[in-house]
Amino acid sequence: MNYSESNSQAGEFLRLTLGFLAQHNLSATPVNYTVWYEYASGKNLKLRQAIDRILEKKLPLNNNHVEALYQKFISDGDRVVISRLLTKLNLMLREITTYVVETEGDLSTHGQALDSLADQMTDIHDYDDVKNIINQMLDTTKAILQSGARLQTRMKVSSEDLKQLHKELEVSQKEARTDSLTGLTNRRGLEKRLEIERIRARQNNSPFSVIMLDIDHFKAVNDTFGHLVGDSLLKGFADIFSNLVRRNDLAARYGGEEFLILLPETNVEGAYAVSEKIRTLLCKKEWTLKDSGKRIGQIKASMGIAQYKLGETGNEVITRADKAMYQAKSTGRDRIVIHSDLNLC
Ligand code: GH3
Ligand code: MG
Ligand code: MG
Repeated sequence: MNYSESNSQAGEFLRLTLGFLAQHNLSATPVNYTVWYEYASGKNLKLRQAIDRILEKKLPLNNNHVEALYQKFISDGDRVVISRLLTKLNLMLREITTYVVETEGDLSTHGQALDSLADQMTDIHDYDDVKNIINQMLDTTKAILQSGARLQTRMKVSSEDLKQLHKELEVSQKEARTDSLTGLTNRRGLEKRLEIERIRARQNNSPFSVIMLDIDHFKAVNDTFGHLVGDSLLKGFADIFSNLVRRNDLAARYGGEEFLILLPETNVEGAYAVSEKIRTLLCKKEWTLKDSGKRIGQIKASMGIAQYKLGETGNEVITRADKAMYQAKSTGRDRIVIHSDLNLC
C-alpha cells in the first residue's frame, strides 16, 4: 500500500489507529498497527469491509484475528516476488530480442555481399577474378557462421539464465509459503493446498479432513519461561507433527500457537485416530529445557476435527474445525471434538 497522505491526515489516522488498538485491547505490534492504520485511512477497501463485518456482528477480534486479516488483505508476498521475477524476465527478453535483431542485421549485410558477388560473376575475365570471387564467398560464409555461432553462444547463456530464474522462482515460492519459525507450511501455503484438495475431493468424490489444534495454556509457558522458550516449544510441536503425519498429509502453522493438519483421503474416524495419537503422545511427553535440563512439564492441546463437505469453501471447513476446537477448550481442554458431533452449523 502506498502511504502518501499529508502530515495532518497521517496524524489523524494515527490518532484513530491508537484509539482502535486501545478499544480492542490489542498490543501495538507492527502488524496490529498496520492493519488498523489501513482501516483508518480507508484505502484498503476489502480490509475495511472485512473489519466492518466483524464489528457489526460483534465477533471477537484478538491479536490472532488481526494477524489473519493482515495475511489476507495486506501482506502479498507472492505479488512482490512475481513482480521482481517479471522485471528480470523482461530484461532477458529485451536482451534476446537485441541479439536476434543484431544477427538479422549481420545476415542482411552478408546477403547484400552475396548479391554483389552474383553481379561480379557476370563480369569475369580470368582466373584471378574467379579466385577473388571464391575468397569473398569464403569470407562471407565464415562471417555468416560466426554470426550464427555468436547467437548460439548468447542463446546458451540466456537459457542458463532462464534456468537460474526458474530455480529462484521455486525458492521464493517455497519461502513465501513457509513459516520461518517452525519450517512448517504457513497459512498462505495451506490455502493453496486446500484448493487442490477441494478439487481432488470433487473429482474423486473422496473425503479429506482437517484437525485444528491449539496448544493449551500456552501463554503461561511464555509468562513462566519466556518467549524464546515458547518459540522452542512451537518448534518442538512442529517436529512432532512432521514426524507423525504421512507424506501426503500437511501440517501447517495456522497462527500463533494454532496448527492445522490436513489429511487427504481421510474421513473423521481416520482424523480422530491421528488426533488421538497426538494427544497420547503429548500426555506421555515431559518437556525440559535443553540447556539447563529444567523441567517445563507436560504441554497439552485441544483439537477440533471437520470432514470436508462437497461444495463448501476451504474457509468453511476450517471454521467448522475451529468451532469444534473451541468446544474442546470450553469443555476442559486436552480433548478432541468432531464437528459433526456438535449441534452447530
Ligand atoms: P488456551 O488454552 O485458551 O488456548 O490458552 P492460551 O494461553 O494457549 O491462549 P491465548 O490465546 O490466551 O494465548 C496464546 C499465546 O500464544 C499468547 C501469545 O503471546 C502466544 N504466542 C503466539 N504466537 C507466538 C510465538 O510465535 N511465539 C511465542 N513464544 N508465543 C506466541
Ligand atoms: Mg490460540
Ligand atoms: Mg492456546
